[in-house]
Amino acid sequence: MTYQNINLPTTGEKIKIKNGTLHVPDQPVVGFIEGDGIGPDITNACLRVWDAAVEKAYDGNRKIHWCELYLGEKAAGLYDGDYFPAETLAAIRDLVIAIKGPLTTPVGGGFRSLNVSLRQELDLYACVRPVRYYQNVPSPLKEPEKVDVVIFRENTEDVYAGLEYQSGTKENKKLANFLRDEMGARFFDDAGLGVKPISPFGSKRLVRKAIQFAIDNRRESVTLVHKGNIMKFTEGAFRNWGYELAKEEFAEHTVTEEELYTTHGGKCPPGKIIIKDRIADIIFQLLLLRPAEFDVLATMNLNGDYLSDAVAAEVGGVGIAPGANIADHVAVFEATHGTAPKYANQNKVNPSSLLLSGVMMLEYIGWKEAADLINAAYPKVIGDKFVTYDFARLMDGAHIVSTSTFADALIAKVTGDADDLSRLEEERRQALETERKEREAKRIADPLQAMKESGRQPATSAGIMSPITSVASSATVDEAMHTMRETDISYILVEPDNGGDWGIMTKRDVVTKIVGANKSTANVRVEEIATRPLITVTADAGLRAVSMVLSQNNIRRVVVENKDVPVGVVSDTDLFEVVQEFGWDPED
Ligand code: NAP
Repeated sequence: MTYQNINLPTTGEKIKIKNGTLHVPDQPVVGFIEGDGIGPDITNACLRVWDAAVEKAYDGNRKIHWCELYLGEKAAGLYDGDYFPAETLAAIRDLVIAIKGPLTTPVGGGFRSLNVSLRQELDLYACVRPVRYYQNVPSPLKEPEKVDVVIFRENTEDVYAGLEYQSGTKENKKLANFLRDEMGARFFDDAGLGVKPISPFGSKRLVRKAIQFAIDNRRESVTLVHKGNIMKFTEGAFRNWGYELAKEEFAEHTVTEEELYTTHGGKCPPGKIIIKDRIADIIFQLLLLRPAEFDVLATMNLNGDYLSDAVAAEVGGVGIAPGANIADHVAVFEATHGTAPKYANQNKVNPSSLLLSGVMMLEYIGWKEAADLINAAYPKVIGDKFVTYDFARLMDGAHIVSTSTFADALIAKVTGDADDLSRLEEERRQALETERKEREAKRIADPLQAMKESGRQPATSAGIMSPITSVASSATVDEAMHTMRETDISYILVEPDNGGDWGIMTKRDVVTKIVGANKSTANVRVEEIATRPLITVTADAGLRAVSMVLSQNNIRRVVVENKDVPVGVVSDTDLFEVVQEFGWDPED
């Protein structure tokens, strides 16, 4: 392919897509777009850091061959006023991967935002924003190190689809009449109208990407974020299609949160990703209060827009947040801030957003070792209080440095003791892994508490049951009472008798059938006073069904069975606690 202004490097090889996977040579050609305003300052600084990290990580055996591409003001200068040259699009498709600085949206003249155009032209349907904490970065949270999420935001649908009809226009009236006359809709006169399209295709391709990422990166969970309790056929449908996709395409790799409790007693089967969902407003609260509970998030366009910036603010603000817009394979990594024109060419601003987008890019092409070097060097430089003016405003005793000096300081760390740096990233991973195990232990020991903490509202018996403790039928009442005292429970399950039935012995049985009947606890066997057969519910029984079984049988606790084996017990107190914690809305 020949280009008008783009000079493909004479060295290096193109990245290829073969059989649906990315093939990255050791000497790949990657596109970069400087961007406008502060773009050149940050791009030049970052290129040096990325190159140094790659060189150090692979002893010079790998190298990126950069190819400059043009968009925005620089393009307009080269392409006769064209801010968005077609050959740049062609080159990004051809090179597969590019990284870009911020772009000015030309004011007036009916220009679309260049960023929006780029997303639409290349169908970059997933906006990916990893948000993690780097030690020493100023943060408003008490425990910012618990934030480590990757948000996959759908980029093409939702209220961003441009289907809006202004109040007072002919089109608006036409749609309003149709909605009122044909669909029986009711709304105030002259309301502006917008349409919110959410399709199975758009939802599923986004969720597919999120799950695949979670599998590739051994993440713990994927949370589908939605407001499906209010918008059932758009937001609720997104949730349903997400679960459907997980089942259709990733059954071997995933387990739903429901199954985690109902079938696996809170223990995640090895190698599986937990698929869960949360209501959009609650997730904002949870990401502030319990960020560790969340990992990969899949969202629709509007929810993701709000959420990305809100979560980024928890760990240093959008000024350092990296991002990428990704199609099936083609990916454009970018600084998420704007061109800050008042700081252009002053070598002053913070290059972190673009820098960390480059780290994402290195991870995307599988060059994890180079990414790790930067990830580990970054907090060290901030820890030395070598920061650009924006961070200096938030720190005491900072040394304010220029964009290029910040890059020099990073390069010095990156090219220093690499073993020391890779150990830091490994330690961080280990800490996250330990926390993951602790969460699992909590889920197993106290599912209701674990659910409260993770913002999940339990809906089934398995979600609120306590694990069972049992004794053999032949055990004496003394032995059973000893176990009950040790485990602090008021009942005990009795293992199958000759007829194969499980039973239950409660405190009340001891009072009435031992004391009342004047027998000895040491001589009577539990099988003699146990109640058999058990009254049971299935693990997926809804909470209302459970309460009906309790009241119809006039009992205080019911045994939960999974495939005919008791797995837990639900008491009226457990049910009461759920209602106390979450309230009760009548079931559909
Ligand atoms: P902006 O360029 O992001 O700048 C707003 C303020 O954010 C700056 O004045 C500065 O705050 C701070 N800031 C931004 N980047 C920084 C950095 N790297 N280091 C330190 N501080 C940084 O937003 P804007 O002024 O609204 O937009 C300017 C232009 O950028 C517009 O043409 C807009 O369309 C475009 N834009 C492009 C993109 C993109 O290409 N992805 C995204 C957003 C906006 P202080 O003044 O407080 O220091």
